[in-house]
Amino acid sequence: MKLFCRMEIEIQLTKGPIAEKISPPQWWPSAKTALGAWIEFRGLVRDEENGGTISALEYEAYPEMAAREIRRLIQDISTRHPCLAAKVIHRVGIIPVGETAIYLGVAARHRAEAIALTGEFMDGLKRDVPIWKRRALPIDFVGDEVTSLTSKKSETPHVVSYKSLDEAISEISSSCQPLPPVRVPLEESFGRVLRETVCAPEDLPPNDRSTRDGYAILADDASDNFQIVDTIHAADWKPRLLRRGEAVRVATGAALPCDGVRVVMQEHVERNGDKIKITKLESGSSLRKRGEDVKAGQPLMKSGVRLDAGKLALLATAGCTQPLVSPRLRVAHFTTGDEIIPPDQTPEPGQIRDSNSILIRGLLQNFSCDLDQKHLPENFEAAWAQLDLNRIAAADLILISGGASVGDKDFTRPLLERLGFETAFSQVNVRPGKPLIFGVNGSRVAFGLPGNPLSHFVCFHFAVATALAKLTGEIAPKFMRGRLATKLDDKPCPRETLWPARLEFLNGEINLHPLKWSSSGDVTCFAAANALIRVPVNCAELEAGAELEFLPLRSMMGS
Ligand code: AMP
Ligand code: MG
Repeated sequence: MKLFCRMEIEIQLTKGPIAEKISPPQWWPSAKTALGAWIEFRGLVRDEENGGTISALEYEAYPEMAAREIRRLIQDISTRHPCLAAKVIHRVGIIPVGETAIYLGVAARHRAEAIALTGEFMDGLKRDVPIWKRRALPIDFVGDEVTSLTSKKSETPHVVSYKSLDEAISEISSSCQPLPPVRVPLEESFGRVLRETVCAPEDLPPNDRSTRDGYAILADDASDNFQIVDTIHAADWKPRLLRRGEAVRVATGAALPCDGVRVVMQEHVERNGDKIKITKLESGSSLRKRGEDVKAGQPLMKSGVRLDAGKLALLATAGCTQPLVSPRLRVAHFTTGDEIIPPDQTPEPGQIRDSNSILIRGLLQNFSCDLDQKHLPENFEAAWAQLDLNRIAAADLILISGGASVGDKDFTRPLLERLGFETAFSQVNVRPGKPLIFGVNGSRVAFGLPGNPLSHFVCFHFAVATALAKLTGEIAPKFMRGRLATKLDDKPCPRETLWPARLEFLNGEINLHPLKWSSSGDVTCFAAANALIRVPVNCAELEAGAELEFLPLRSMMGS
């Protein structure tokens, strides 16, 4: 007897169109349930999305995970609104306008319960169930995908969720917009990106200066003996004309008394009281000319450069003490995985020391960031409960380590979806680092990084660094060309590879030494890696001398 049994729940995720007529469960209506209700709900794709006209929507899901969450949601609602049975069919892939995206049939003894369950289910579905609306296809989209679906073929195209390396980089780049700049004191500007072009306010140096401790004389004065008529220290400003046979004692950096002079080093004169005699002829004039470094009004530094110590020194010289720079980034980083322990603990069998937290912290040190780090339990709801949603809402960038694949416990994508991030892609055709999730929520972006340390390292440099550059308004890191110093031995791989390497300069040439690694769990190559060589698809081995693209890892250059 069905009436008082546990609720019967049937769930389907289908790529094909949902039938126009769907029968209630076979046992319905039975003699005992004939007084109840069978309520049907259909969600159709509307021709409008975010104010624009569209031709179709694309949905994507991991079927097992989505089905599990749908079941859990219905069971939860049915504790408040007891019903007898529910049948859910959710279509995935590309769904043309007018066709059913979701069908829900609910059997209940009382129609009010069925209606209430339907309402709550539809609200909860959007919020809690990992079925992702990937994109809305514009009205002028005439791809085969939509036409093949509208002709109601039972075979529907496979939803491709991965990107090539180039596509991924360009999608990240176009999805991130520079955050509004701020003016801050020089002392707080290290690691930020200059967001204005700074010009020299005056000539540098501002006047002709001596580069030596010595004596200023007229440049064409060939006298043997000179009378010392004045002394000018570095801080003095004492313009005066010089006559033949006259010398002014000057310190290094002192402003010269007039035009048309040269400085004789004190080592090349013999001094007698207030008289000097030149003992050695010099070829140079030992002075810096006004404006020889830069002329007033010339650009000193262009917008888009990251401020390091040298650049800050230049800004200080130019009196630019409140530069317009990128704001301090707010970054939230979460690690996942019940096997992960703090690095100061000794692992039990199966446990792994957390290396990703310190890796991310170190890599972000080159940027001006406020970093929040936290470890999350390996359970979607438990992890959700531990999130400080206000802090997360304030973060410009969210990073989640691990759980980025499609395993039973991998919840990074649904978590990001629940946080309001739309998944732009969930895989990149690259090795290591394939399960890389990129999500966008307005001006905020998120990455689900594969937990393996080497994947982490690689994904940070080609993906996260691209986002950081765009968010801060910096010129993004670019692939360069260099030569292999030693042979690169590999098995053919259908994915492009970003191979850890040591970049060294030899006779002015870039030499790339491929480092040893065999798995994305390897860590020993971290000690030397400062570049990633881009190995083409299916490339078995490359001889020394081969010219290849590589990504220099600026943050690792100091090592
Ligand atoms: P996942 O991406 O969660 O499937 O993890 C892949 C591998 O990376 C597993 O062997 C994890 O133990 C490892 N891993 C995940 N997080 C970390 C971490 N924070 N530090 C070091 N290894 C990790
Ligand atoms: Mg994990």
